[in-house]
Amino acid sequence: MAADNKDTMIVPVLPLRGLVVFPKALIHFDVGRQKSITAINKAMKRDQMIFLSTQIDATNNDPKLIDVYTTGVIAKIVQVLKQPENVTRIVIEGKFRAKIVAPVHDPSGLMAEVQPIPEPIMDHDDFDTALMRAVKKEFEEYIDISPQIPSDIIFKVALCKRAGELADYIAANMALDYQVKQEILEIRSPVERLKDVLDVLINENYILRLEDEINRKARMRIDESQRDFFLREQKRVIEEELGEDDNPSEDAEEYAERIEELKLDEKSADVLLKECRKLMKMPFGSQEASVIRTYLDTVLDLPWNKSTKDKIVIPKLRKELDRTHYGLEKIKTRIIEQLAVKKLSDKQKGQVICFVGPPGVGKTSIAKSIAKAIGRNSQRIALGGVRDEAEIRGHRRTYIGSIPGRIISAVQSAGSNNPVLILDEVDKLASDYKGDPTSALLEVLDIEQNNKFVDHYIDIPFDLSNVMFITTANDLGAIPAPLRDRMEIIEINSYTREEKFHIAKKHLIPKQLDLCGFTAAEVKFTKKGIYYLIDFYTRESGVRTLERTIASILRKCAVKKLEDGVETFKIDEKEIETLLGNKKYLPDTVSKKDEIGIVNGLAWTSVGGELLPIEVAIMDGTGKLELTGSLGDVMKESAKIAINCIRSHADVLGIDSEFYKNKDIHIHAPEGAVPKDGPSAGITMATAIYSVLSSKAVRHDVAMTGEITLRGKVLPIGGLKEKSMAAYKHGITTVIIPKLNEPDIEEFDDAVKENINFIPVESLKDVLSIAVIDPIKVSEREWNKTRLPSPSANAPVARMTQ
Ligand code: ADP
Repeated sequence: MAADNKDTMIVPVLPLRGLVVFPKALIHFDVGRQKSITAINKAMKRDQMIFLSTQIDATNNDPKLIDVYTTGVIAKIVQVLKQPENVTRIVIEGKFRAKIVAPVHDPSGLMAEVQPIPEPIMDHDDFDTALMRAVKKEFEEYIDISPQIPSDIIFKVALCKRAGELADYIAANMALDYQVKQEILEIRSPVERLKDVLDVLINENYILRLEDEINRKARMRIDESQRDFFLREQKRVIEEELGEDDNPSEDAEEYAERIEELKLDEKSADVLLKECRKLMKMPFGSQEASVIRTYLDTVLDLPWNKSTKDKIVIPKLRKELDRTHYGLEKIKTRIIEQLAVKKLSDKQKGQVICFVGPPGVGKTSIAKSIAKAIGRNSQRIALGGVRDEAEIRGHRRTYIGSIPGRIISAVQSAGSNNPVLILDEVDKLASDYKGDPTSALLEVLDIEQNNKFVDHYIDIPFDLSNVMFITTANDLGAIPAPLRDRMEIIEINSYTREEKFHIAKKHLIPKQLDLCGFTAAEVKFTKKGIYYLIDFYTRESGVRTLERTIASILRKCAVKKLEDGVETFKIDEKEIETLLGNKKYLPDTVSKKDEIGIVNGLAWTSVGGELLPIEVAIMDGTGKLELTGSLGDVMKESAKIAINCIRSHADVLGIDSEFYKNKDIHIHAPEGAVPKDGPSAGITMATAIYSVLSSKAVRHDVAMTGEITLRGKVLPIGGLKEKSMAAYKHGITTVIIPKLNEPDIEEFDDAVKENINFIPVESLKDVLSIAVIDPIKVSEREWNKTRLPSPSANAPVARMTQ
């Protein structure tokens, strides 16, 4: 029967499950239901035409006519193929749309009267053309991203000229829900249908792109975890091969055992065991696991229960210290006392001792010797420039790369919990915004609370109470006061020439000979040679440069021995010049002449005492005062006081009392590069001023130190020991000191006491009578009748703070 599009036709109905067939589609599918096979047979017996309509519910196994969509497609069965198991495969070609208008009774299968739906024939306008282009473009993208559609379809789409045909073709070839396809099938207007297709396409493409993105990400995640897994496996195999088995849970167990063995207090053990539990949960090779491991290794490595046994045999100790160090009696005696008490009673905790003295006098090395002599390990901690509290107490573990502080690190390196820790240069501690290292150090040195010292990194208390702390410093005044209060200070002096000679002969030379592989018979230093080295190749308070110079001589001898086969050496003045070149320093001499306006002062610096000559010149002028030579504020004030003191005593001293109006005074302290400060040059400046004003010379063999007041009183000063040593080195025979400093003389070095006449004074009058040649005689009564200068234009004006 020819399809006449307007007339209805009676055709067998084949219900389709989940499939919508469009006109012009050529497809094949399998049919298994008996009713469907009957319908096919009927069609084949007639004109091969069959009505294909989609079931509303795809799961219905026995659909009636009311169970299918009324709109479907009349198709021609092109081929029927019998398949195994009662399945028939048919190839059909969709012809045109049609809709059921009435059911036709047929007990053997579904039959219906259907009416064809003609496809409107219309010319396409620009909008339609644009729509078609848009659809084609969108479809191209669809093909691109949806993998299951064969790409040759695109060519057919390109050839489609009609909107309806294009809509049908695309809908037929898209992987869509059958309901969506049915909707498209039911739209009669070709343009409307195509619009619908475009919407569907856009939506599908969006979803496909999203799906693609999701897939890509999921794949990446899988790839990454596979990669991680693969690398970790590889690492494990490599480490196994190298014998570096890395297994967090096994390690954690091992750590836990070690923690138990340490028998720490419960709280500390808990902290560590918690870390073990964390480690146990860590994945293989994780970064965090290695942080925990480093922490546990560090903590477990600390000498919690390891200590050395003290060998305190007092007579032996004394001998041992004498063997390694010359002199230093005070230190030796004090240490021996402390250790003797310790030996008798364990109750008394030793005081922290601080050795104060110029560089190179053996502070650090005797501390090391003490440790060795009593069989303790020792470690040196340099504190110079430490400005961060964390350097003492460690960084918290939350910081990347954190480590324990210097104290705990030193204990760890010492390997025992009772080492001697030498805290070098406590006077050079600095503090800034990162916290004050002094307060951390106070805690370390506090014998009452250092048994529970908590380093930020270690995070559990460590007992430092058995550690013997020895600190060193150059400048007592620069040690932070709270720290100074906690320590017992033992001062060490500069060495005299003679002491240096003995130290060199008994200690430095044998030590260096040994280090260079010489015997004492091979290299002999003459007495004069040693003094020659001290006088002309070194200028220091200690013996560090002297030791270095001796080492340098021996190195040169070693070369000569190997190069020229020289067997023995006699190190005298001549040999020293050959080996080391010309003298480096000229002897410390003072002027051999008594001069007007030049007076020997004495100064103290952190590297020892110094002779500080003060020069004064007076010129006609208007009363100006000039001070040169890097003088600090206190010293400048002291100069003004000295001038006014002389002014107030001008009459009794027999000098022009108007000098401050018609003369300019210039005070100079040579060696301008070295900053000088403090009040102790007061009497020196006053003496020099008096000397120029009276034109009387000052004794060249006299040195002096003392603060001066306006009334000419002499006040006590510090650092006298080092100053006296400097005077001694320069061959001074008389040193004027403040009366109140007289008790200090007892502490002076014997050689100094023997060679210098110390004269304690109370007033400038006495100073002048000792130091000035041919002094004017002034009685006590006259001197005390001082006339303080009346205010003048030049007099200093006290400035009030605003
Ligand atoms: P400081 O710590 O006071 O700066 P050091 O302890 O570093 O000085 O001493 C420098 C060198 O001088 C060391 O080799 C030390 O052995 C030696 N030395 C210093 N004083 C003496 C002494 N009294 N006896 C023996 N050697 C000494």
